[in-house]
Amino acid sequence: MYAEIIVDIASEQVDRVFTYRVPEGMRVAPGMRVSVPFGPRKKEGFVIRLKDQADYDESKIKPILSTLEDYPALLPELMDLAWEIREKSHCPLCEALRLMIPAEMRQGRVKVKLEEYAQLLIPPERVDEAIRSQQRAPKRKLLLTILSDGQPHALEELRALMNDVRTPLNALAEKEMVGIFEKEVLRAPYMGRLDAAPDPELTAEQREALSELIPALHKPQKPFLLHGVTGSGKTEVFIHLVREALRQGKGAIILVPEIVLTPQMISWFRSRFGNAMAMLHSRLSAGERFDEWRRIRQGGARIVIGARSAVFAPVEKLGLIIVDEEHEQTYLSDRFPQYDAREIAVSRGRREGAEVVLSSATPSIYSYAMTRRGDYTLIEMPHRVLNRPLPHIHVVDMREELRRGNHGMFSGLLQKKLEDCMQAGQQAMLFINRRGYASSVNCRKCGETIKCSRCDVSMTYHSVDGTLRCHYCGETRPMPRLCPACGSAYIRPMGTGTQKVEEELNRRFPGAGVIRMDVDTTAGKNAHFELVDRFRAGQARILLGTQMIAKGLDFPQVTLVGAVMADLTLNFPDYRAAERTFQLLVQVAGRAGRGEKPGEVVIQTYQPDHYAIRGAATQDYRAFFAKEFERRKAGLYPPFTMMVRFLCEAKEMDVALRVAEDIKNRVLQEFSHSPLQRRIFFIRADEAPITRIQDKARAHVLMKLLNHPDTDALLSRFQEMAGEEYPARVQLEINPASLA
Ligand code: ADP
Ligand code: ZN
Ligand code: ZN
Repeated sequence: MYAEIIVDIASEQVDRVFTYRVPEGMRVAPGMRVSVPFGPRKKEGFVIRLKDQADYDESKIKPILSTLEDYPALLPELMDLAWEIREKSHCPLCEALRLMIPAEMRQGRVKVKLEEYAQLLIPPERVDEAIRSQQRAPKRKLLLTILSDGQPHALEELRALMNDVRTPLNALAEKEMVGIFEKEVLRAPYMGRLDAAPDPELTAEQREALSELIPALHKPQKPFLLHGVTGSGKTEVFIHLVREALRQGKGAIILVPEIVLTPQMISWFRSRFGNAMAMLHSRLSAGERFDEWRRIRQGGARIVIGARSAVFAPVEKLGLIIVDEEHEQTYLSDRFPQYDAREIAVSRGRREGAEVVLSSATPSIYSYAMTRRGDYTLIEMPHRVLNRPLPHIHVVDMREELRRGNHGMFSGLLQKKLEDCMQAGQQAMLFINRRGYASSVNCRKCGETIKCSRCDVSMTYHSVDGTLRCHYCGETRPMPRLCPACGSAYIRPMGTGTQKVEEELNRRFPGAGVIRMDVDTTAGKNAHFELVDRFRAGQARILLGTQMIAKGLDFPQVTLVGAVMADLTLNFPDYRAAERTFQLLVQVAGRAGRGEKPGEVVIQTYQPDHYAIRGAATQDYRAFFAKEFERRKAGLYPPFTMMVRFLCEAKEMDVALRVAEDIKNRVLQEFSHSPLQRRIFFIRADEAPITRIQDKARAHVLMKLLNHPDTDALLSRFQEMAGEEYPARVQLEINPASLA
């Protein structure tokens, strides 16, 4: 017997199958991981296929050394998916296969956790006699008494009773009265507080949505896009749908943008499905992730909730994939191989006959356009549950405030509404999409801005420890007292960040209690769960944070939401800036008035007439979509085209630029006589919007390509070009999450 094996080395040169012999008596199956000799070394590999005959000289074929697990780590469906990713992302197959298993599993970096336990070996009727025989050894006697229930007892538990449990146990084991064994234990992640609320009675809209979604479990159809306003009760729809899938003996995967953003959804699912649910995301410890993965692989957990990469979870008989908040950027992976978890979900659904539901209050332009084309089925939930009204939204023109002499960060209206809210004993949430104290540190005399020495971005002042930090590379240095350019003392933090708002709130509303949630306060493993629990328990009246608090959270006591600087995302150098701003504002606004009392929202902006701000203010998704769709069409942006770029990084900008120019010219030349040229709408070599990151100058060749089947040939060629040798590091990016 022979096996075709992909050796786990990420290189174009070894991107093919190698044949190995299966030694007599070794049990090997497709999908198993094995150890094989490769050149002079030992390497890990994936078994792709078994075959009876070798295609070449049998004496030259080396044997498999051992299997790494006694079960196939890769399901056949996922191996097929890996081939597809290899095609689409133009990466070696082994890179695609690596996505399918926890990273720690490779090279044996994580082990199964074992626990020792003791158990009685003698029959129950002989226990009394055994105890009597140990009259003069009180420790042994005690142990026998405890073990007389015949149950296994962990050594950990017995240790609590006496300091040296090992000696008396060993003595009993020698007499064959007691056995000491090891068993596997699964490390379980923390999943938040349990919410034991009973199922609410479904609303008419929820029932209607389910009447379309449930039949599709039997007979998979086109993917669904569930467009439900904030607070329309989408989670409850998911729960019913998952329950139905389980009833039919099928598994389900629920993707969420980031676990940090959805602690409540996890608790709701957890209280409904208990241990049938597993969780996969990057905040788990290596051991927890490995054990959760094994629980799924072995069928112990049929429901998986997780971030982007959970789309590869080894669920057998998959019946349902839900992508919650499908508009989120986090579904695009930023690492190689690049993939879009939504695309994978749709593709996996089609392959495995599973229903796919994308869901959002603010669907991506792409997915909504798919419903217009008839490729996805649109389901709408336009009302909040129990006829709760959508919040009332005020837009405040901050230019007016300045004219009236208000230089503070809160408009008169927001200040007034906050006072009312505190007076009424309710809770408020304030959103500002920038962490730290200020946006930049500037000299008022000469205009100097302090920038990171390694990146072309201004450093942010952090008041907690008086440092300046770069949010791109993490560089930290003390706040200077004099301007490094002109030596004047007029150097100040400008603009606003979460820390500054926190300080201001504490000053204006002493005693209200402010919880700040941003990257800096949620670094601890379960910090986000704890902060959310504290706010829900009413231990603070104001929750302040970055986009981390914009989505998914459900606090019935919150009646006021403020967006302190709504324009921040609007000014990003990205064609999606308007879409992202609209989504963020609608989502933030959606946190208000989710309980019995209606909510109010104050949006502070310098561009009150921008269509993204207006669209958010009226919460009119369709109007926003129509406008944005036209704009994309006119400017030939996705979904009408594909944005593709070669990112070139080098020590010096002229080197990076030269490489970019060179690639651009070669592309133009190579395709000058090819019909493929017509697929390139736009091509330009230029400095990237952020010119330096981590001491690397950045230039790019930016292209807009027509969406067309031929374009794939173009992309393959580009991938080859990116793989060549240059004086700069060159990477091809296809519709990347960021074009900065
Ligand atoms: P969405 O995800 O659509 O924004 P959620 O699923 O978070 O909305 O639900 C909003 C709130 O409504 C939650 O507090 C939830 O418990 C509650 N809810 C959901 N369905 C019902 C129902 N049928 N009856 C009463 N309350 C409901
Ligand atoms: Zn100066
Ligand atoms: Zn930096």
